[in-house]
Amino acid sequence: MKILVTGGAGFIGSQIVDALIEKGIRTAIIDNLSTGKKENINPKATFYQADIRDKAIKEIFEKERPDIVFHEAAQASVRLSVADPCMDADINIVGSLNIIENCRVYGVKKIIFASSGGAIYGEQESFPAPEPHPTRPLSPYGAAKLSIEHYLEYYRLVFGIPYVALRYSNVYGPRQDPFGEAGVVAIFTSQMLRGETPTVNGDGGKTRDYVFVKDVVAANIAAMEKEVSGVFNIGTGKETSVNGLYEIIKNKAGYPGDKKHGPAKTGEQYRSVLDASLAKKD
Ligand code: NAD
Repeated sequence: MKILVTGGAGFIGSQIVDALIEKGIRTAIIDNLSTGKKENINPKATFYQADIRDKAIKEIFEKERPDIVFHEAAQASVRLSVADPCMDADINIVGSLNIIENCRVYGVKKIIFASSGGAIYGEQESFPAPEPHPTRPLSPYGAAKLSIEHYLEYYRLVFGIPYVALRYSNVYGPRQDPFGEAGVVAIFTSQMLRGETPTVNGDGGKTRDYVFVKDVVAANIAAMEKEVSGVFNIGTGKETSVNGLYEIIKNKAGYPGDKKHGPAKTGEQYRSVLDASLAKKD
């Protein structure tokens, strides 16, 4: 079996690659290293530095002929999508379609897509949200993720390509980038380590469902190994406020200082927590 992982130099994608290599599976990576890092790349994987929007990636599909594609590459910042929706759509919609089209042309047997449970439901009506919950994205990033789920369903219906879209909640863990705008666990932790005062955007009452990256990797491996298709939430069902998260990290780290509050950011719902019982059952 051969696998292709787009975004395989990133926080989550690189750890999916590590798990595949550990299983002795031949794995190739496409990544343009825009946010991904060379040091994340498993030396046993074949690495192609390429952009998912580039028409020339068909040559990589031609050469590798993957059986399964994990599509993790994305412009992964909600805030950048709000600042520049066209850039977000260019990468997250047009780039993703370029990958999916190549999957069709080269007979890929399954596509496993990194969707977002934190960005596509919008302000939730029920807590935790199950998959049939209404989808009302509050950001271009969420709208793009949802549109790719629709494209994947179209490719399944019309071309018979199975897919699994994993709607991740808020993923944390090793290799998470503390320098970007996203990833509050990594941001707070590194600010405390540097002795800087952590800034909470807004009142800190916003809640999220924080899921450990190794659990997200396990969900991806299960999606590959099981005869499943469709959309699945991947989260813990536990809701933690930003203030609560700050207290947990402060206590664990023995940080003696305090936090400050800045203005709230747009494009983000107030409460977010996912019901992942379907993934657990299947
Ligand atoms: P990341 O930024 O670490 O990984 C994304 C990877 O894609 C990077 O290695 C980057 O270099 C690469 N990439 C970006 N644009 C590219 C392009 N045009 N061509 C080729 N490669 C490109 O982010 P991550 O947190 O590991 O996210 C992985 C996936 O999971 C993304 O699709 C993201 O939207 C999704 N996701 C993440 C979270 C989270 O909490 N981290 C939550 C929900 C969904």
